Amino acid sequence: MNATSTPAGVIWDITYACPLRCSHCYSESGRRPSPQPTTRQLLRMADAFLSLRPRQIVITGGEPLLVPGLFDVAARFSDAGVPVTLYTSGWRVDRPLARELLRAFPTVAVSLDGATAEVHDRIRGRALSYARATNTLRLLDEASRGMREQGAAPGAFGVDVAVMRSNLHQIETFCTTVAPRFPELGHLVYTLTLPAGLAGREGFADHELLDDEQARWLTGPHWLEHLQSLAPAGLRVAVEDHQRQMTHPDDVAQGRIVPLMRVAPDGGVHAMPVYEGTVGSVLDEPPLVLWERAVARWSDPFVVRTLAPVKTMRDWAEAVRLIDYHFGSPADRARIDRRPAFPV
Ligand code: SF4
Repeated sequence: MNATSTPAGVIWDITYACPLRCSHCYSESGRRPSPQPTTRQLLRMADAFLSLRPRQIVITGGEPLLVPGLFDVAARFSDAGVPVTLYTSGWRVDRPLARELLRAFPTVAVSLDGATAEVHDRIRGRALSYARATNTLRLLDEASRGMREQGAAPGAFGVDVAVMRSNLHQIETFCTTVAPRFPELGHLVYTLTLPAGLAGREGFADHELLDDEQARWLTGPHWLEHLQSLAPAGLRVAVEDHQRQMTHPDDVAQGRIVPLMRVAPDGGVHAMPVYEGTVGSVLDEPPLVLWERAVARWSDPFVVRTLAPVKTMRDWAEAVRLIDYHFGSPADRARIDRRPAFPV
């Protein structure tokens, strides 16, 4: 068995429904129809993922909390002992739901893209989204503390920041001002925004994606040390750079790809996590067959020809547009054609 014979992890966009309208949304959620599989179909998909023995499953979207059957899925993964991280915008979480989330999911990550309402709401495209996300963090904090006080393990939750130019000036503020408000917070992860989905459209790289120097600076070890020194004691701070998800031919040749399977709400398996274009659905075919088809795409002549010359974030955004258009379905292409250039 080699390193890519099965995926190390599964990223499941469990729905494309979402109340927010983020400028950088990788899945273009809230602006496209979202299939709504039945709970039985969701469980079939969950079983398909489990058959691949992934080390980690990420449930994202869209807003997963809109999906009926989400907690059945969580129970299925929990019974199998596979760690799951649930991502939410925190738009609609009340006290009972906060408790339920921490009990059902090993990790809950709330997306927060601004350290202030002004920045977060602008990026997220909806007024009050900062107030709602931070209220969710407060409720998770309270629920986690309650679990600890009852002698149970505290719930694990954290903040995930998609870093782009609009919030780069607030990087330290997340550590100094936001994190101390939630004493139970376990992690604060900064993730460099990639040119996927809406973040790959015309103009986005020029205005919002970090340029290559900014990306190098943020992912350097000294900067991480600095951020950790600003954060409350016990909070884990990380900076994640997923540029290997470009699937650059050099990385493929040298085995430097982290093999991840990204799955759409209808069970469609993306050939490559960052790009449009699927290779079939886990509801129709064995997941291992689909995975092998996906891995073959990494060496497709069009992919190699398009990605080989990529050197900069801007080049990559251009390559994403070409690959998405080439491998996307007619519906994908029509959706891509409708994307407004950034800024709108
Ligand atoms: S909250 Fe997430 S899924 Fe919804 S629009 Fe924003 S990035 Fe997309």
